[in-house]
Amino acid sequence: MRKKINIYLAVIGGISILMTAILTMLVYYNLYQKQVISDLKTYSVILIAGGYLKEAKEVLPIEEIRITWIDKEGSVLYESNAKKEEMDNHRKRPEIVQAFDMGEGQAVRRSNTLGKNAYYYAVKMKDNSVLRISKEASSFYSVFGSAIPILFLSGFVLMILCLFLARWLTLRMIKPIEAMALNMTEIEERVAYEELRPFAKTIKKQHEDIINNVKQNEKMRRDFTANVSHELKTPLTSISGYAELIEQGMAKPDDVSRFAAEIHKNANRLLSLINDIIKLSELDEKDKENNFVILDVYEIAKDCIETLQFSASNRMVTLKLTGEEVLIRGDKSMIEELIYNLCDNAIRYNKPNGSVLVVIKYENSRPKLIVSDTGIGISKEHQEHIFERFYRVDKSRSKETGGTGLGLAIVKHIVEYHRAKLQLKSKEMEGTEIIIEFE
Ligand code: ADP
Repeated sequence: MRKKINIYLAVIGGISILMTAILTMLVYYNLYQKQVISDLKTYSVILIAGGYLKEAKEVLPIEEIRITWIDKEGSVLYESNAKKEEMDNHRKRPEIVQAFDMGEGQAVRRSNTLGKNAYYYAVKMKDNSVLRISKEASSFYSVFGSAIPILFLSGFVLMILCLFLARWLTLRMIKPIEAMALNMTEIEERVAYEELRPFAKTIKKQHEDIINNVKQNEKMRRDFTANVSHELKTPLTSISGYAELIEQGMAKPDDVSRFAAEIHKNANRLLSLINDIIKLSELDEKDKENNFVILDVYEIAKDCIETLQFSASNRMVTLKLTGEEVLIRGDKSMIEELIYNLCDNAIRYNKPNGSVLVVIKYENSRPKLIVSDTGIGISKEHQEHIFERFYRVDKSRSKETGGTGLGLAIVKHIVEYHRAKLQLKSKEMEGTEIIIEFE
């Protein structure tokens, strides 16, 4: 930006210098021409008033002056610089035509002498003859030709001055903006130019948003680490406790298998937890659309339901799938995980003899996945939190059924990853419906 402003200012300076030089030359040359004609006019007045027409050379001791006297037919009556007999008819000369028509006339023509122009002034006298006075004077090129080196030199000096000024001005203009950028928190107080106020406002808002976001992320990370440690600690303490009892021979032979079962259960809990944590961190890391392929959601749901059928019948829950082939672009393992988590929850938080229905279909030509159950439902106050990491409505039920508190957090992540929309409808003691609409 600094370089650009510098260049703009220097170009403006350069153009100004050039324009000023050209205009000054034109104005000056115009004045100069007017002065030459005005001189000629003065001479004519002196000559006519004094009746010195033929003695002009003595009256006006100016070398380059030329006097011509023409009668009304255009024949030359007198010519100071040549023999009048050698002169042709002058009636058609522009300045003479003007003088006969309007009383006076003037013209400038190129001279035979290099670098000179011939200036003519003609005036009609009382006897209807015309007196013409002419003089050779420097042409535009010869007037300014000699001045060109000086003009160039002064232009060059001015240009250098312009460049320095442009640099200095740019620095002065940019400095307050740089000062603004260095202190984002006080950007509005330090606004350099009024025009930048709305810009400063937006920047400050964005800066605050970023800081809040960073703080929020930091808090989330801290909470997550604390939660993870706590969640890992509980099963590990149990495992360690039961193992210690067996080690010290404090477990009766009957208890050993019960303790081993407890150790097994807690070890499985640990494994599920670690698996879910790994999945979440993988989702955080993954580049968008990396493994996206065309998938049939119905096929995936079918496999998933087959896997979960056993767990459903164990809990006396019927699990059903309806719908049609629905194609989406997505990550296969993620969509499997998504359907598995939703169905697993719908079974685990169900009532005996309850049911789970999975529907895969197009609605308004959009792919939809609906998982509904006739389970315990979720009250309004919990609905907005259940997608948070480790949030559980009923902790003991979650743990008892093998929950980690991370299933829906993973679901939310996968939904966002696929730019899909998630909708939750639930009524306590009646059931829950989760609708996912893909792009
Ligand atoms: P969890 O491993 O505890 O099931 P989730 O993240 O999958 O963790 O779910 C968070 C909480 O949301 C659960 O503990 C449960 O209280 C509630 N929940 C999830 N799905 C359902 C559902 N289908 N019916 C009722 N409650 C549900």
